[in-house]
Amino acid sequence: MSDRRMPVPDRLDRRLAERIEGTVVGRGAPDYEARRTGLVWNGRPAPNCPDLIVRPDSVEDVRVAIAFAREHGLCVDMRGSGHSYSGIFLHDGGMLLDLSALDDIVPDPKAQTVSVGPGATAGRIDAALAPHGLAFPVGHGAQVGIAGFLLGGGIGINGGAWGGMSCHNILAADLVMADGRLVRASPDENADLFRALRGGGPGLPFAVVRFTLRCFRRPAHIGLVNHFVRFSRLPDLTQAIEGSTHRLDPRLQLMLAIVPAPAGLAPRLQEGDHGRVGALTAIAFADDANEAALLQAALDGAPALQAALHREAIDPADFADIFAMTDMALTAPRVRADNIFTDRLGDAVATIMRHLPAAPSPACIPLIVRRNAPALRPDAAFSIRGRFSVSTYAQSERACEDAPTAAWLHRLYDDLLPIASGSYVNEVDLEGRRDALDRCHSDAVREDLAAIRERHDPRRLFRRLAA
Ligand SMILES: Cc1cc2nc3c(=O)[nH]c(=O)nc-3n(C[C@H](O)[C@H](O)[C@H](O)COP(=O)(O)OP(=O)(O)OC[C@H]3O[C@@H](n4cnc5c(N)ncnc54)[C@H](O)[C@@H]3O)c2cc1C
Repeated sequence: MSDRRMPVPDRLDRRLAERIEGTVVGRGAPDYEARRTGLVWNGRPAPNCPDLIVRPDSVEDVRVAIAFAREHGLCVDMRGSGHSYSGIFLHDGGMLLDLSALDDIVPDPKAQTVSVGPGATAGRIDAALAPHGLAFPVGHGAQVGIAGFLLGGGIGINGGAWGGMSCHNILAADLVMADGRLVRASPDENADLFRALRGGGPGLPFAVVRFTLRCFRRPAHIGLVNHFVRFSRLPDLTQAIEGSTHRLDPRLQLMLAIVPAPAGLAPRLQEGDHGRVGALTAIAFADDANEAALLQAALDGAPALQAALHREAIDPADFADIFAMTDMALTAPRVRADNIFTDRLGDAVATIMRHLPAAPSPACIPLIVRRNAPALRPDAAFSIRGRFSVSTYAQSERACEDAPTAAWLHRLYDDLLPIASGSYVNEVDLEGRRDALDRCHSDAVREDLAAIRERHDPRRLFRRLAA
C-alpha cells in the first residue's frame, strides 16, 4: 500500500498542473488526504493512494492528462461521482481522473434526447428533463452519477418500461482513448466500444467524456404505494409476486425491502418477525390517476397484502419521492453491498430470512427489485439474466463493525450463489472478492471485453480489473 505522506516523485503534480485548467493534487500534498477521502461516497473509504488525483475542467484537460499519464508510465483510473460501494476507482499509484466536473446536461426536447457529462447526477438530470415533459431511467439516489451507473448497466427508475437496463438507452458516447484520440462510439461508429460501454462495467479502456441518451415521455401521473407486511408473511408475499410477475404491466415497478419495523408497527409484531417487516413499494408510472390505480390493482388479490399491517400512499408522487426513499434506507455511513440476479425469488427470500436474524445490525437491509428482463441484446455487454435483482446493503456505524458485517454478508451471498444467474457489477461486493467480477457477464461477453481492451489499450494505460 502506498504511503499517503510520501511525495509523488519528480514533481509530477506540479508539472501536470501547469498544463491543465483543472486541479492536480499529488500524494504527499497537505490537502491530499482530504481530497482522497472526499472522493468516496462510502463512509468506509479504501486505503489505496493514487499518486495523482486529477480533476479535469474540460475534455481537452482529459486528453492532456491522459497524454501525461502515457508519457510518465502512470496507470489511469476513472471516477464519475464516487458512488461505487467498493470504491473500485481507488488504487495504489498511478493517476485517478476525477471526471465529476464534466457535469453539464443539455436536453434536446425535439429529438427527445439528452447529452450529459460523466459527472452529471440522477437528481440534476431529472430536474433538467422535467420541464420538457421528458424523463430518463436514472438511478434511485439523487446524487448517483450517470457514468458508473450506465457503464455497469443501470437499474433505473421505471426501467422495466424504459429499455430494461438504462444502458440500453445510450445512443452514443464520446470517449478519450489511451492514445489520446477523441472518438465517438455509436451503432455506426466503433461498434465494439459502443457495446462495451453498455454494461461492460468498471475497468474499460477509455474515459467517457459525454453520453447521448434516449429520453422518454414523462408519465403524467406516478402513484406510489408502500405495503408493510409481517416478516413471517414474506413467503406468501413472494409467492404472490412470483406468481403474478409474468402478467404485471412493466410500468408497475416493484421493490421489496426487508427493514426494521417503523416505530408505529413494532408493537404489532410477533417473535417470529424478528423486529422486521417487508416493505413492498409499488410504483405505477401512468397517464392519469385512474390508470395508476388500475396498475396497482393487479396486486390487490394477494392474501399477504390483504393482511398487510399498514399501507401508505404517495399519490401523486414524483422522482424526488423515490430519491427520498433511498436516502431514508441508508441509515449508517459505512456500507458494503452484494448482489445476485435470480429467477427463484421464493428461494432467495427463504435464504435471506434464515440469515437476517443473525445480522450484525438492523441496518443490514436486503432489497429485491423485480426486473422486466427483456432478451439480452447483442449490442450491449450487459449479459446477466434473472427477473429479480437481490441486493443487500450491510451498513455499520463504526470501523470495528466492518469485519463482522462483511463476514455476515459473505455468508449470506455464499448461500444465495447456487440460485444465482449472475451478479450485477454495480452492487456486487468486489472488495476482496475480485473473482465476483466473473459472475457479472456471460462467458462470451467476458471474452469480447478482454479482446476490446487488448485491441484499444494494448499497453494497459487504463487499469484492468479483469484479464
Ligand atoms: C445511494 C446509492 C444509490 C444507488 N442506486 C442505484 C440504482 O438505483 N440503480 C443502480 O443500478 N445502481 C445504483 N447504485 C450503484 C451505482 O450505480 C454505482 O455505484 C455506480 O458506480 C455509480 O456511478 P459513479 O459514476 O458514481 O461511479 P464511480 O464510483 O465514480 O466509478 C465506478 C467505476 O466506473 C468507471 N467510471 C466512472 N466514470 C467513468 C468514466 N467517465 N469513464 C470511464 N469509466 C468510468 C470506473 O471504472 C470506476 O472505477 C447506487 C449507489 C448508491 C451509493
